[in-house]
Amino acid sequence: MRMSKLLMPTLREVPAEAEITSHKLMLRAGLIRKLSSGIYSYLPLGLRVERKIEQIVREEMDRAGAQELLMPALLPAEAYQASGRWDVFGASMFKLKDRYDRDYCLGPTHEELFTQAVIDNVRSYKEYPMTLYQIQHKYRDEGRPRFGVIRSREFVMKDAYSFDLTEEGLDESYKAMYDAYCRIFNRLKLDFTIVDADSGAMGGSGSQEFMVKSPVGEDGIAYCDFCGYAANFEKAECIPTEVDCVEGDLAMEKIHTPNVHTIEELVDFMNAKPYNFVKTILYKADDKYIAAMVRGDRDVNEVKLKNLVGCTDDLELAEPHIVRQLTNAEVGFAGPVGLDIPVYADKEVELMKNFIVGANETDMHYKNVNMGRDFTPHTVADIRTITSGDACPKCGKPIKTAQGIEVGHIFKLGTKYSKALGLTAQTETGEEKTVIMGCYGIGVTRCLAASVEQNNDENGIIWPVAIAPYEVSVVPVNAKNDEQVKMAEEIYEKLLANGVEALLDDRDERPGVKFKDSDLIGVPARIVVGKKCGEGIVEYKLRGEANAVEMPVSEAIESACKFINENK
Ligand code: ATP
Ligand code: MG
Repeated sequence: MRMSKLLMPTLREVPAEAEITSHKLMLRAGLIRKLSSGIYSYLPLGLRVERKIEQIVREEMDRAGAQELLMPALLPAEAYQASGRWDVFGASMFKLKDRYDRDYCLGPTHEELFTQAVIDNVRSYKEYPMTLYQIQHKYRDEGRPRFGVIRSREFVMKDAYSFDLTEEGLDESYKAMYDAYCRIFNRLKLDFTIVDADSGAMGGSGSQEFMVKSPVGEDGIAYCDFCGYAANFEKAECIPTEVDCVEGDLAMEKIHTPNVHTIEELVDFMNAKPYNFVKTILYKADDKYIAAMVRGDRDVNEVKLKNLVGCTDDLELAEPHIVRQLTNAEVGFAGPVGLDIPVYADKEVELMKNFIVGANETDMHYKNVNMGRDFTPHTVADIRTITSGDACPKCGKPIKTAQGIEVGHIFKLGTKYSKALGLTAQTETGEEKTVIMGCYGIGVTRCLAASVEQNNDENGIIWPVAIAPYEVSVVPVNAKNDEQVKMAEEIYEKLLANGVEALLDDRDERPGVKFKDSDLIGVPARIVVGKKCGEGIVEYKLRGEANAVEMPVSEAIESACKFINENK
């Protein structure tokens, strides 16, 4: 490709809308442009990368025996109504009506449709097991679209669904996808971790997520360097730890705590430690209210709590006027004593003695509170988020935590959708079996951003060869020097003839601009034709290395071809 013809609107300035590196660089390098909140266009360079990721995904899915098909994105409501997800998706589903007032949605994920496709098209039990997939746009009206294509409202997903007649069959189909995912993310050169994931809310028996560790990741992951345990925060089981408490059977006492609103202020005021307090947090769970209690230095894990409560919608913090109504106090003074809604206490609270809680009265706290004696929780369970240093639930050694970007998710669904929609198969012996399913997703466009997040420096993107928009750029330093231009053209042609995806910077720009652009868009190798052109010498430089090396033209071409082939 000749850069003079390439639509590549690079930006020198950092766009104000972008918070994280990958988003900034994808805008600056002219890969994507925002059309509306969470909705992006892919310009030529971005689309090339996206297509290459798709292709790697496709090759590995095919290799694992999955078959590609393509469903519509505009979907009639019926199948989602039958599964109950028409309501469960709530506000995150884009719903619309046609001219006859019939309900449709833009597909957020396709379990229902694939189940229906198998009902409609599979005639014999002999056709099982089967794994089907598509690579397609998905639509979710995310509450907080952000970070560019990491959390967008229209994105490309590869979604696959397996259909088996036995549990062992599901295990095999799942394993085949697990292996394919490892190959895919390795080929994408993503540094990833596989974590156990929560499967509570969706039902099913097992689930794992493929996470790219990154400080900007929105998911918390806990991992153990000693035994290899890894789970996301929703799944990671917390082992309760005991802390120093005031000993003895002390009477509960009400304390006046004026102008104290935060745990920190309370710690100072009471001259105690954060772990001597218990926080009581009020939530809206569907149409009722509940309270959650965790130690002062802990956080409630809302997904664990949601699964425990068994509600459909995500938990929401109770609004201030509701808190006032339920506690008869300003926000910040809720406590379990005398509270008239179900209280869910974390297991650690059970180990504490004589602790401090809000007194359900403005500016008042209770001290010397004891569970069982002063209040009785509805449920005691693990409802907190694991923290670094907690005991590993598998081996007991200190756990570590990190943030991760979820790029893939594999899930043993079981019979949730086949039961809801009626997918059965009659076996040889005439037995009617409900088909057992798995589902497997990869965020194709999210992978693009995750790769940029992991591969960049102060000058721009450093693409791995396998997904680089172009593989080698050829830069004549002076566009007005005929000799340089001619040599650059020759190198460009030779690279193309060798099957290398080459870029020729034939723009009449200053060398500085050309080098900056080439670094910014992250082309893995570069050949610069400059002053020593007359002697047949050029500069060869890899994007990931600091220095350029001078060498004869033929050697540079050879090196570039070799480097590209070895790293594809
Ligand atoms: P998240 O927890 O990040 O919202 P999810 O668990 O809802 O994602 P899945 O339903 O498991 O997502 O979808 C499969 C994959 O699709 C995810 O692993 C992720 O890589 C990608 N994905 C999900 N939502 C988005 C989004 N809003 N934008 C881009 N990619 C997404
Ligand atoms: Mg997921």
